[in-house]
Amino acid sequence: MSISYWRTRDRYYRIIGSICENCKSEFFPPVYTCSKCNSTDKSKIKDKEMPNQGIIISYTVLYEPMLGFEDEIPMQIALIQLNNGVRLVSQIVDCKIDDIAIGKNVKRVFRKIKSESKSGQIWYGYKFRLC
Ligand SMILES: [Zn+2]
Repeated sequence: MSISYWRTRDRYYRIIGSICENCKSEFFPPVYTCSKCNSTDKSKIKDKEMPNQGIIISYTVLYEPMLGFEDEIPMQIALIQLNNGVRLVSQIVDCKIDDIAIGKNVKRVFRKIKSESKSGQIWYGYKFRLC
């Protein structure tokens, strides 16, 4: 595994964003400048783990595979608003296409992302499922 993987692996397994302690705004992905109060004070903008639950704001279903994800078609991709208001895009797993709907509750799960073909290395990360 690469050095960069080991340096960033914690971020594959947990949803690490930022909080601005000046105005209490939260962000994902992490930021260095707060877009609410414009603070760039490194002592006030800190890493923060995002909530594990949220709701589906919007979603789509992919029928054309992205390279490396051919086995996961059809793939459900959703815009999720976490319980702190932060939004992110993630795959929805463990459900039928007809079960997905805007407004449904979801929670984060730990799943295999992909297998790297040359080395056989398996990448893990977070996805979401209905709850
Ligand atoms: Zn701020």
